Amino acid sequence: MTQNFNEPQKQYLQGFFAGVNQRGGAPFVGQTSNGQLTNTPDESTTGNQAEETVHGVLIEDLCKEEKIKYDHHGLDIWDTMLDNAAKNKFPEGGDVFRYKFNGLFYVTPAQESMMLRCRIPGCVLRSHQFDGLADIAEDWGGGYSHVTTRGNLQVREIMPKDSVDVLVKLRELGLTSQGSGADNVRNITASPTSGFDPDEVIDVLPLAKAMHHYILNNRDLYDLPRKFNIAFDNGGSVSVCADTNDIAFYAVEVGEGQSVDPGVYFRVQLCGITGHKQFAKDCGLLLKPDECVAVAGAMLRSFLKNGDRTNRKKARLKYLVDKWGVEKYLEETAKELAFELRYFPLENCEPRRPIRRHGYIGVHPQKEKGLNFVGVVVPVGHLSVEQMRGVSRLSEKYGRGEIRLTVWQNLIIPHVADDQLKALKAELHELGLNTEHHNITNGLVACTGNAGCKFAATGTKAQAIQVGDYLKEKIELDQPINIHLTGCHHSCAQHYIGDIGLMGTKVKVGDESVEGYNIVLGGGVDNEQGIAAEILNGVPFSEVPFTLEHILKTYLDERQSDESFIN
Ligand code: SF4
Repeated sequence: MTQNFNEPQKQYLQGFFAGVNQRGGAPFVGQTSNGQLTNTPDESTTGNQAEETVHGVLIEDLCKEEKIKYDHHGLDIWDTMLDNAAKNKFPEGGDVFRYKFNGLFYVTPAQESMMLRCRIPGCVLRSHQFDGLADIAEDWGGGYSHVTTRGNLQVREIMPKDSVDVLVKLRELGLTSQGSGADNVRNITASPTSGFDPDEVIDVLPLAKAMHHYILNNRDLYDLPRKFNIAFDNGGSVSVCADTNDIAFYAVEVGEGQSVDPGVYFRVQLCGITGHKQFAKDCGLLLKPDECVAVAGAMLRSFLKNGDRTNRKKARLKYLVDKWGVEKYLEETAKELAFELRYFPLENCEPRRPIRRHGYIGVHPQKEKGLNFVGVVVPVGHLSVEQMRGVSRLSEKYGRGEIRLTVWQNLIIPHVADDQLKALKAELHELGLNTEHHNITNGLVACTGNAGCKFAATGTKAQAIQVGDYLKEKIELDQPINIHLTGCHHSCAQHYIGDIGLMGTKVKVGDESVEGYNIVLGGGVDNEQGIAAEILNGVPFSEVPFTLEHILKTYLDERQSDESFIN
């Protein structure tokens, strides 16, 4: 079945797809940059095609993706999307990349369909939004969704004919997928317990949402050299893995007797990119809460103007900062701001409060007496539409209609009264979801794998479940661990930060090529930071569960007292 659009419908839909205004967007308070029209040559161009440049780079020197962006901006393809939807046609050529600007990924040959990646700012959904996403998954997708490692939601198996309906429905839910793929700022994450965490320094949800809307309303930011991650950590007990982001804002307190007023501030860490084995590092800045979004905007613009446009492998922020040094990067950032950056020694801030591993699974008291948040295990992030609707209903019945997604691919239902906990847990159990703590299975993280990603060497999600089930039977651990399975070196499941990390690869067994993994050990984040080191290469999957059992048993037998898995 195909779909045709008349002119009024097209105009209506243009409003959805061309939502960001054509020129730079409104300047932000405290910021001088007024953006730049993207995908046009620099103003200094001579008119001679051969000498035209984009951000100082000759057109002919741009890498493939930059040329695609230069030819036609990814946010301006709504007419192509409408035509393709009408013909039930998948995008071709450069449009495959441009569709990602709109959150649609054509994932052939893994699946002959498209994947929708939403944006869930701060990883918070209202129940009607979760219901609406279940409708999208049921009506136009494969009948399920995946919680991602950015506390986001993906729906798979969408056909081109339905893609416009999907995007419109998403907007009507108050959500968008704009910029969730390609060279854009990805879903803005926040500590999943923000606002009700008794241990938090400050509720960072308003900042995460402000950052989200700032990006959506500044078209010039849809022209980065490469993807970009931003996270807000509330300083509380539950991790958002902020130090794996390009920019990580960490809430801290500064006490009396310092050179700044006592109170709540943010430290800024830069250049987390764990697939390249690097955590974000403190850059010396101390920001007031209302300075964070402007500084992030300035940092993005500094990156946008100076990042590498010729080599994709060197285009992430890390490589610009490696080339320049942090000092120069901050000097360039300061030029984009109308206020001065404040430097302050990290050691003069109060230390970060402890983080509890798997600390949100199960029942935990909130700030407000008599209320609790309930962490729900979602094995490898997979939710059926029945489970989505069920969680939505239960969040209404027992909470306040709010659902939090976590970067560990699980979810939280907050605001549950003490006397409602038993009933909620029973109803979750009926949905096939549990809230019980388990030291192994609660920390299983897996990327999409070959069920839906063309890069994958292995079936990560299904194999993660097998590994978890096996280890659950065979071993009793007395501390929580995280096991991350990633299907290829792109490391979407961040295998280098797992206590145990598995990276998919093909392994030769006799004449046969079978699915297998390289095994790394000893990763961690936040106060347990560690990049896991490879100990085994090319283990066929059939041997992985037993190998991990052996590793864990050896650890239990041989560890010194209190020795953890971390490097
Ligand atoms: Fe695909 Fe590789 Fe990312 Fe897994 S890590 S989702 S296989 S790109």
